[in-house]
Amino acid sequence: MRRLLNESVINIKGVGEKLEEALIEMNIHSIEDLLFYFPNRYDNYQIKPLHELVHDEKVTIEGEVIGNPSLTFYGRKKSRLVISLQVEHMVVKGIMFNRPFAKKQLHPGDIVTLTGKWDQHRLQITVSNYKKGRAKSQDAIQPIYSLKGNVTNKQFVKLVKTAIQLYGNYVEEILPDTYLMNYKLPNREDALRQMHFPTNFQILKHAKRRFIYEEFLLFQLKMQWMKKRKKEATIGNSQNYDEQKLSTFIKKLPFTLTGAQQRSLDEILVDMKSPNRMNRLLQGDVGSGKTAVAAISLYASITCGKQGALMVPTEILAEQHYQSLKEMFEGYASVALLTGSIKGKNRKDILSKIHAHDVDLVIGTHALIQDEVVFSDLGMVVVDEQHRFGVRQRRTLREKGLYPDVLFMTATPIPRTLAITTFGDMDVSQIDEMPSGRKEVETYWVKDNMLDRVLTFIKREVQQGYQAYVICPLIEESDKLDIQNAVDLYHQLQTYYEPEIKVGLMHGRLHVDEKEEVMHQFSMNEIQVLVSTTVVEVGVNIPNATVMVIYDAERFGLSQLHQLRGRVGRGDAQSYCILVADPKGEVGKERMRIMTETTNGFELSEQDLQLRGPGDFFGKKQSGLPDFKVADVVHDYRALETARRDAQSIIQSELLHDKLYEKLHALLKQDEQLNGDALD
Ligand code: ADP
Ligand code: MG
Repeated sequence: MRRLLNESVINIKGVGEKLEEALIEMNIHSIEDLLFYFPNRYDNYQIKPLHELVHDEKVTIEGEVIGNPSLTFYGRKKSRLVISLQVEHMVVKGIMFNRPFAKKQLHPGDIVTLTGKWDQHRLQITVSNYKKGRAKSQDAIQPIYSLKGNVTNKQFVKLVKTAIQLYGNYVEEILPDTYLMNYKLPNREDALRQMHFPTNFQILKHAKRRFIYEEFLLFQLKMQWMKKRKKEATIGNSQNYDEQKLSTFIKKLPFTLTGAQQRSLDEILVDMKSPNRMNRLLQGDVGSGKTAVAAISLYASITCGKQGALMVPTEILAEQHYQSLKEMFEGYASVALLTGSIKGKNRKDILSKIHAHDVDLVIGTHALIQDEVVFSDLGMVVVDEQHRFGVRQRRTLREKGLYPDVLFMTATPIPRTLAITTFGDMDVSQIDEMPSGRKEVETYWVKDNMLDRVLTFIKREVQQGYQAYVICPLIEESDKLDIQNAVDLYHQLQTYYEPEIKVGLMHGRLHVDEKEEVMHQFSMNEIQVLVSTTVVEVGVNIPNATVMVIYDAERFGLSQLHQLRGRVGRGDAQSYCILVADPKGEVGKERMRIMTETTNGFELSEQDLQLRGPGDFFGKKQSGLPDFKVADVVHDYRALETARRDAQSIIQSELLHDKLYEKLHALLKQDEQLNGDALD
């Protein structure tokens, strides 16, 4: 019977080629598509008692015409018709503009239904719609569809009505009964009817609730199904690391792991030992100790005779990690650096060492997965700043015949709600606790007119031996102007501070050697104030820097501001973040307020998501979020979590009954057609 629903809409009486074309443009091909093309809003023509009407709102009233309507003309072809109506025990006026013909249709004693804007003070309604007779209660809520071509709403409503009449019975339940009962959800057919033609708003709410859950459950089933298939397809990757060596390595660290670090490490080690390939995201605030956890995991892989790779987004960062990891692995493993700017003989040497397994751990940028790099036995890859590492790079690894365990790290904590949707096919570990003894960065929001005081404040900090970053204004995605700005600000601050305080300049267009030189000077405290574009955003570690000033802070997203703030507060001293901003809009103000009140990245990212909506969070393209029809990831995140849990138990217990499986199968097939490779 389901097959009937798969037939083309052309089978519905009244649908000709023209209409079919318009429907196809709306992505409606089958009868099922039509049935599940839900309204995007509803007009409310429900009649309310007079005392419930709200001034200036659109309302519908019903009453009896008393006396003859009076019609007056004014201007050219303009007219005003006034009708007196008895509604309940009151007399209400209905005003109709430019519809003189209505006078002949409305007679004393007639019952009419009027819709329009309500004026509470004058007890009158400016009519936009009128109808003779009583309002039919089933028409009180009118669905409004978002349509294409020249299909009118009226036409479409009729079409949907016909479709429901003819085919509604064939809509079958796909959700397991237990969940329907537990959550008190209406069945699929009833809910479908109510979505289009709701009896009242309460019932509509439940119908929506049902489809929100259904959408989320199907989505989660799909993700988890793929994850399971992927795991099954990648057997043969058990890394039996040397526990003894590993614990010696951990004991030698200059600190003990936090609870959250230990928990994440345990999760990673279980993945490594298991025959399945690890595909895990490690989330944690800047400085929460992700790199430490990653280093331990890399060492675990090395203890079973494999090689490891740490991939980072920028050369500066690669350099820094190289320095600190070399120290950490001293006496345990050999470490090499490979970036785009290492050239000639040097490069050849490193490449041949990697190939010959003379190197255990390689740190670098994307250069690491280029063709010429051939590992002898790559067991583990750690990718820092996950969102800059795309599907393509993963594919490159695979095409080279490499199936290492992969750990993605991100310091842009992704809200849980997003993580379980976007990364539904990935496991997630979270470091939500900072090492003890860290001082929170004090954050202030100031207006432009306080710049003088900001500069004085920097001076004071520098006089006490500390350093400062000044992030310069960002201009409309124009790299060139950004740099011009940075240069201008640099000169300005030089005039202000030099010679006592040395000012440095950092931006993306500098030559690699120049960048290195500047960073080196800053790390040696030869430069005290570093003017920079956002290139310092990722991972730079100068513990002696205690001030972060961000110009035009309102132009940055919360996550990026938080990232920048993470450059300070890395040492023992109290650090400060100063946001210089004059936001015009409410959202901008809200952002500044949140920054000054929250230092926890997870909390902040949740708020960012609320402010921006999921599509904007990473930029629509990267978010990987499907287009839910009814559900809203932010608003309905509780349903999403529930659906995820339920999907898990359905998949684990093989509770997948026929109808649900059929639907899931269809979805997976659709995906494969769209992406070519759903497993990626
Ligand atoms: P992330 O990669 O999350 O930014 P790191 O691993 O680089 O964090 O750690 C930041 C700093 O904190 C480093 O100097 C590191 O040595 C130190 N650190 C890491 N874990 C701990 C811990 N458990 N206790 C104290 N210090 C730690
Ligand atoms: Mg880091």
